[in-house]
Amino acid sequence: MTAPTKTMTCRDLGGPCDLEHEGTTADEVINAQDRHLKEAERAGDAGHQEARDAMKGRWRHPKRSLDWYNGVKRAFAERPVR
Ligand SMILES: [Zn+2]
Repeated sequence: MTAPTKTMTCRDLGGPCDLEHEGTTADEVINAQDRHLKEAERAGDAGHQEARDAMKGRWRHPKRSLDWYNGVKRAFAERPVR
């Protein structure tokens, strides 16, 4: 049996759009968002640049990012399965 998937949007993760990321864990949706932001940056999407820079900063400052990460994990846990 596979774990149920849940959905969080780019906006839920600090981004500017409503693209939905699906995953069975918070880490999966965070990774999906990371890929999405990298693609947006490559495409020259200025709207996503701020979120992309914040994401890059998170990997550089893992301790400072813990609050954000725990917040996402909590939001993911509270999200209903659909
Ligand atoms: Zn987005």
